[in-house]
Amino acid sequence: MSPSFTRAVIALGSNLGERNDTLTAAVADLVDPPEVRLLAISPIVQTKAVGGPADQPDFLNMVIAVETSLTAPELLRHCQAVEGRHLRVRGVRWGPRTLDVDIITYGDAVSSDPALTLPHPRAAERAFVLYPWSLIDPSAELNGVKVGDLAARAADFADLAPFDGFEDSRLEDRRLEDRSGAAGAVEP
Ligand code: AMP
Repeated sequence: MSPSFTRAVIALGSNLGERNDTLTAAVADLVDPPEVRLLAISPIVQTKAVGGPADQPDFLNMVIAVETSLTAPELLRHCQAVEGRHLRVRGVRWGPRTLDVDIITYGDAVSSDPALTLPHPRAAERAFVLYPWSLIDPSAELNGVKVGDLAARAADFADLAPFDGFEDSRLEDRRLEDRSGAAGAVEP
C-alpha cells in the first residue's frame, strides 16, 4: 500500500552568514528525501532584526508547503537535522550562519506538546511567517482567519520588505503609508 501524504507548512529564517544561500540549501535539504515533496515555495522577505547589535543583518524569511509521508515527530526531527547541518560556526572572517526551521502546520493537527506545538504557537503573530505563507496559499487560515489578514494586523508587518527584486503591492502600499507618517513607520 502506498503511504499517505500530509500537507505541511514549514517556515525558514536566517540572519547570519550567506543568508540567501543558507535558505536555498536548506529548502533543497528539506525536500531531498522521497518522503518530503515540495508543493510551493514563497518569495524571500526581509525583516529588521529587533534588538541585538545595531549592525545585525536583517532576517531573511520564507515559507514552503510540502506533502510528506513522515509523521509530525519525524518531520520535526528531519527539520532539526537540516537546521543542525546549517548551524555550523565558521571562522571569524565569515562569521556564524544560523538557520531556524519551524513546522507551522501539519495537516489539521492540533498539539500543545511543547516538543511539537501545532499549529506553531507564535505563527499567528508573525508577519514574516504569515505574509509569505499567504503568497503561496491565499486561502489558508489560522484560528479561522485568513493568514493574509493576520499578517496585515501583526506588529512586525511594518518591518517587512521585499528581498532582491521581489515586489508586492501590499508592501508598496504599506511603505507609502510609512512615508506619509502613518502608524507603524520603521526606524531607518
Ligand atoms: P527554536 O529554537 O525557537 O526554533 O525552538 C526549538 C524548540 O521548539 C525545539 O525544542 C522544538 O521541539 C520546539 N517546538 C515546538 N513546536 C515546534 C514547531 N511547531 N516547530 C518547530 N519546533 C517546535
